[in-house]
Amino acid sequence: MTNADLLLGCHLSIGKGFAGAIDAAEALGINALQIFSHNARSWKIRSIPAETAALFQRRREASTIRYIVIHTMYLINLASPEEAIYRRSIDSLRAETVAAGILGIDYINTHIGSHKGSSIKTGIARAVAALDEVIASPEFHNYNNVRILLENTAGTGTTIGTTFSELGRIINSLDDSSRVGICFDSCHGFAAGYELRTATGLNQTLEELDELVGIERLQLIHLNDSRYPLAARRDRHQHIGQGEIGEQGFRLLVNDHRLRHLPFILETPKEIDGKPHADQINLQTIRRLRTNR
Ligand code: ZN
Ligand code: MN
Ligand code: MN
Repeated sequence: MTNADLLLGCHLSIGKGFAGAIDAAEALGINALQIFSHNARSWKIRSIPAETAALFQRRREASTIRYIVIHTMYLINLASPEEAIYRRSIDSLRAETVAAGILGIDYINTHIGSHKGSSIKTGIARAVAALDEVIASPEFHNYNNVRILLENTAGTGTTIGTTFSELGRIINSLDDSSRVGICFDSCHGFAAGYELRTATGLNQTLEELDELVGIERLQLIHLNDSRYPLAARRDRHQHIGQGEIGEQGFRLLVNDHRLRHLPFILETPKEIDGKPHADQINLQTIRRLRTNR
């Protein structure tokens, strides 16, 4: 048996519907999946009809998919100093909670946002208040299967969540953090300065994560190679093994005893040499790097 315990998948489009994403996942032979709940570049959230949700849940149950996460819309900024955007962001995260609840999806992964020059301290305080409000909302209470994952960022501009210190400060300041975890994106982490290419580097990275956030909070890994070097603070995903992290970094990541049970989701480019089968190739690379135990 090869890699029976490997939870591996990628971000797939819902262009052919929610159930269509399951079809696409099965065609790729993956057992984990990330989707948007709607167009990620728009504020508009249409409520999901009960029949759509039922169809999706039936399709999922009949499938080999064992893990699904919703990535929230890109416009959300929980640290925004602008009141209108801040409000919209809180409402959107509540709406994403509803989408996940209706679809029977247990995780929503979100970026925290940017302080836009107001300061990291102010941005963190805003994000904490925003998350407190979402967590105290009736939606989050009603759909009590849903958990929020905060994703680390590459550190471009004024984004919040670049370091484990920032993520830890946010989580430790929440009124109730029992349904909050983190997602570690390898491209973002590497771009933020976390060494992943050596056993020593990865070990230091995970020890810092454990100290400042708690390793049990780490519940999802985004596997992306990085176009730019260590600490470049630039967020450009590259095919696995073809970027600055390289195959050795991913071999360490997917086999580490602290990580190997977690879901691994690829967000790598969809095209390779102008052809659209990049997911198959990147999935194959990860399967090859994973050793059986
Ligand atoms: Zn993301
Ligand atoms: Mn990511
Ligand atoms: Mn990214």
